[in-house]
Amino acid sequence: MPYKREIFEKAQEILDKRRNQAEAKNTAVMMMFENTEPLYREYKNEMIASVKEAVKAIDMSPDKAAEFVEKQKIRNLAAQQNVKKLLEKHGLPEDYLEVKYFCPLCEDTGVTGTRLCTCHIELLKDLAYEEAGKKSPLKICTFEDFKLSYYSDKAESSYDISPRERMADILEFCRQYAEDFDRRAPSVLMTGQTGLGKTHLSLAIAGKVIEKGYSVLYNSAQNFFRELQNERFGKSGSSAFENMMLECDLLVIDDLGAEFSTSFTVSALYNIVNTRINTGLPTIISTNLNLTEIENQYSNRISSRFIGEYSHLIFEGKDIRQMRKEEE
Ligand SMILES: [Zn+2]
Repeated sequence: MPYKREIFEKAQEILDKRRNQAEAKNTAVMMMFENTEPLYREYKNEMIASVKEAVKAIDMSPDKAAEFVEKQKIRNLAAQQNVKKLLEKHGLPEDYLEVKYFCPLCEDTGVTGTRLCTCHIELLKDLAYEEAGKKSPLKICTFEDFKLSYYSDKAESSYDISPRERMADILEFCRQYAEDFDRRAPSVLMTGQTGLGKTHLSLAIAGKVIEKGYSVLYNSAQNFFRELQNERFGKSGSSAFENMMLECDLLVIDDLGAEFSTSFTVSALYNIVNTRINTGLPTIISTNLNLTEIENQYSNRISSRFIGEYSHLIFEGKDIRQMRKEEE
């Protein structure tokens, strides 16, 4: 996945820091051990000397060289053996004097062979999500501070359940969804008027899912499209943000339909919705539009994907924001 240069630089900085810290700590440990156990210095010098000696083999005839190198090797191994015994004597682990890298695979260089190490890839991903998360303008809401008492307990008609009962069902669905979340969770479409709690519940889900260690990308549709547009028509030539939208464990698009709709936003939305369905990754979309309005604004290719592939939560009732303000 291509990332912005700053992300690479930041990752390199962290890798350097990890490596330097591990090596500095090792130097300190060796010095400490040398002070408590003077024999260690002797054995260490013996090891260094054997390596230095072995270099002299370059000027020897092949037969002699092999014999000489072998001798130095034995000398080196004997010293190593002695160090091992010293550690045993002090009740210290066998690897006590070795550098403890954050990632033993690449020894914190970020590279194994000719490829980026998995720790490096992980680091780039974390940094990219961190950066994307900073742009999310909304604070995280929780299930615990979602108040059902804001919703009327009077049904509109005798055939219907009250808004409060309906919301209790939706709240339970969302709580369960977050609880059971994995990469195969269903996608969810939340429709209904402004101020009925769609944003609150999608944020509550996002918060829980992040807590579980999944990568979550959350933002308003308007901000997502702006970011995609900058990337598409910018000079960087990167598609890192689009890839994150396609590959994150959970994508939450808030307030779809509030953005200025263009042929770019319509095709970008279709691409994201469709690709994530095809790769089986869950998406949560909230919108004030109903399905007919979605079809009119974005084409029926998209609305039919929603109907066929998304769980649909319909939020009904009166705007609760006024009540919340009065209470605060
Ligand atoms: Zn590594």
